[in-house]
Amino acid sequence: MARNCSHAIDAGVYLLGDLPDAEVEAFVRHLDGCPACRVEIEELAPVVRLLIASRSRLGGS
Ligand SMILES: [Zn+2]
Repeated sequence: MARNCSHAIDAGVYLLGDLPDAEVEAFVRHLDGCPACRVEIEELAPVVRLLIASRSRLGGS
């Protein structure tokens, strides 16, 4: 499982684009050395894509 890193929670926020710029930098650096978070990103990416799609459909102007 990929839940053994305390930064894994940031993966979803990062994918949603909701992570502040300063934290994106730190998180991307963290990804380099953290396989658990890379797996988390891979697992979450399809879900987040769906979320973003439905979000833009609901909030689209
Ligand atoms: Zn990590």
